[in-house]
Amino acid sequence: MIGIKRSLIVVSIISVATILYLWGHTDGQQGRVYSLIGDSVAAENPPKISPVKARDRNFYAPNSEDLGPDEMRLIACGTGMPTARPKQAASCWLLELGNGDKFIFDIGTGSNERIAAFQIPYNFLDKVFLSHLHTDHFGDLDALFVGGALAGRQKPLRVWGPSGDTPERGTKYALDHLRKALTWDLDGRKGLTDPRGYQLEVNEFDYKGMNQIVYQENGVTIRSWPAIHSLDGPVSFSVEWNGLKFVFGGDTYPNQWYDEFAKDADLAIHECFIAVPDMIAKFKFTPQSALSVGTQIHTAPEAFGKVMSRIKPRMAVAYHFFNDFDTSHAIYERIRSTYDGPLSLAEDYMVWNISKDDIRVRLAKVDEDVWPPPATEKPQLPDPNERIPYSEMINGGRLDVKDVIQPTYDEINEKYGINEKQE
Ligand SMILES: [Zn+2]
Ligand SMILES: [Zn+2]
Repeated sequence: MIGIKRSLIVVSIISVATILYLWGHTDGQQGRVYSLIGDSVAAENPPKISPVKARDRNFYAPNSEDLGPDEMRLIACGTGMPTARPKQAASCWLLELGNGDKFIFDIGTGSNERIAAFQIPYNFLDKVFLSHLHTDHFGDLDALFVGGALAGRQKPLRVWGPSGDTPERGTKYALDHLRKALTWDLDGRKGLTDPRGYQLEVNEFDYKGMNQIVYQENGVTIRSWPAIHSLDGPVSFSVEWNGLKFVFGGDTYPNQWYDEFAKDADLAIHECFIAVPDMIAKFKFTPQSALSVGTQIHTAPEAFGKVMSRIKPRMAVAYHFFNDFDTSHAIYERIRSTYDGPLSLAEDYMVWNISKDDIRVRLAKVDEDVWPPPATEKPQLPDPNERIPYSEMINGGRLDVKDVIQPTYDEINEKYGINEKQE
């Protein structure tokens, strides 16, 4: 019995060896049978211990890479829809240039936390360009305005956006009233924090301007042109800097101005809506409104492809759809029926590094426990006289906890050489 077992084992070993030998030959890798696990393992000198040296990674870690002086970095901070979901915030795009400039295009609902994930000092997140005044394109402006000031923006938040066909439908009206809506919030911070960030600078421009310059500073030119969406007012933008051209299209039916002014883009973003059958099946639109919203108010995937086939960017970026395993295929197929060039179906945290010779596309891996980065200027102490006092009635309702708080005052006063007193 023992002899039979032994010969079986021997036969088995010979069989395995033969298979490996033959496999090694058929693969043209004679003797390198362990190349199954990849070329990174050196055939001649296999490592004796587990390798511990850093290897290239295929994701972007915020705050971990220099940006080349001739390079742009684009980050998708929102690619979704007005209907909120954890996976995708609404439209928001953060553009970083090699000269240090940073611009935010749209700041749709839910996008502010994505911006925060990139740990950029808030003094440099002070320029926002709005394509139009739907909340999925500017619904988190209040969060960046107030939260950004609290987190270290020591200057006004500058916002550019289009006029409307009436003054009430323009950006200035919207932001003047947003500021009014924040009266309680802003009054409650007076005398408590550095006051310089709680200012809005609104730059409204004519929505009918044709490739008009709306911003020109530090070698960067930003232009706008009209879009066709819901009402008069929406626009698209281009950024020209250092021989590179970035185009951001807000919501629109395909339009001839994008066709003309987005030409020669290195990277062109254009909205691309969910395929109509999925709008009905998954979004529960009626067939009538799915057709109208999905192909007339917005750009259908086939039409997105047609637009990109005409302008031929180095990279086309589609957004404004729920990018899921069971919806993206229909969008991709429909785009591919009309466009065969470079394409990104955007999702949140997608990152593009754009230079003259290369466009690298990755996903970012972010730290959910992120805190604000250090402020880049010394904070200015607020004037305590600006504090708006409580009424006597409310002030009289304080519970006496001074005795348990006093040790914290003593500790901080001593540590920082100050002399603060409880109210
Ligand atoms: Zn819209
Ligand atoms: Zn939208």
